Amino acid sequence: MRVRASSFGLVVGTATCHACSTPTPVARLWVPEYTYHFEPDDELEIEADPAMLSFVSDLSAAAMVRIQAHAPWLRMAPTRTSGMTYLANHCACGAVQGDHYLGVPGEAFFPLSQDQLQGLRFLPCEGPLEAEASPGSSAWMVQVPSLGR
Ligand SMILES: [Zn+2]
Repeated sequence: MRVRASSFGLVVGTATCHACSTPTPVARLWVPEYTYHFEPDDELEIEADPAMLSFVSDLSAAAMVRIQAHAPWLRMAPTRTSGMTYLANHCACGAVQGDHYLGVPGEAFFPLSQDQLQGLRFLPCEGPLEAEASPGSSAWMVQVPSLGR
C-alpha cells in the first residue's frame, strides 16, 4: 500500500547472517503515524499508531539518502523468496537478510523480551517519507523513540 508519514526513523538491531553465520547490523523503517491508501483513487486512511515498514519499495530519493547515511547496508534488492524488489538488509558477505525472516518471533524486529527490545537502537531521520510498503504494528513500537537513549 502507499504509505506517507511526516517523519520517520530507523530501528537498528543485529541479526545472524543465514549465509556466513556472523552477526550483521539490520535496520527497519519506523513511523510514528501514517496515512495510506491501496489504490491512487482510494480514500486516504489515517493510522494514528506507530508502525514499522517492511517490503519497502518505490521510496523517494531524498528519504533514501537519509536512510543510507545511517544504514548503508540497506539497499534495494530483488529477492527470490518474496518475488519482489525491496529495501533489504545486506550482510558484509553480500547475502540479503529477508524482511520476512527478520520479523519472525525472537528475531531482530519481533523482540520477545524487554532485554531483547533494549538491544535495539532508534535513529531519527528527517522526514517526510513516502513509499510502497507493508506496515505492521505491535504494542512495543510505542517505545521505539526511547530506544538507545
Ligand atoms: Zn553474511
